[in-house]
Amino acid sequence: MDVSRRDFLKVSSGATLTGTAIGGLAALGAGLAPTLAQAQALRIERAKAVPSVCPYCAVGCATLVHAVDGKIVNIEGDPRSPHSEGSLCPKGAAIFQLHVNPNRPTRVLHRAPGAKEWEAWDLEHAVGRVAELIKKTRDETFVERLEDGKTVNCTTAIFALGGATLDNEWNHIQQKLLRGLGIVAIENQARI
Ligand code: SF4
Repeated sequence: MDVSRRDFLKVSSGATLTGTAIGGLAALGAGLAPTLAQAQALRIERAKAVPSVCPYCAVGCATLVHAVDGKIVNIEGDPRSPHSEGSLCPKGAAIFQLHVNPNRPTRVLHRAPGAKEWEAWDLEHAVGRVAELIKKTRDETFVERLEDGKTVNCTTAIFALGGATLDNEWNHIQQKLLRGLGIVAIENQARI
């Protein structure tokens, strides 16, 4: 492939604009498909593929999770999915970073009212504090009967919000717990 200095500068600036060196090489006419395919093949060569589902939204696109020695090395769309056929949206295409990400917080951080600094709490302590506040709020706001004598046994002072990453089983248990406490405002984007 003959590339003049002028051609190189022209496509380099285009590549910078699109933010990819690969885009620039492709613009120069370099056939990258075999290289990319080979790199991908090497990455998952010894991997075990486990079928899964993107956790981000209710569309539920199917994925293949590749793991080597128990560590995730790649996640991609599963072409066997009848509705997504191997495609993932940009969010789904980044699921790998949900698992493998040095910037992901792994500790519970608590900032006391009025404090400027965050404190690291151990999980047991944090869950205990959440339970303590739920009990306190429920005790203070629980209504057994309305003025007309109708039994309601509920509190409207606690609201439960879930997301699409909560699966069927989690939602089943969560509903039982929350309704048992008399919480009626329960919302989630469950994928079932
Ligand atoms: S890949 Fe995108 S559209 Fe599909 S389930 Fe994930 S977030 Fe939803």
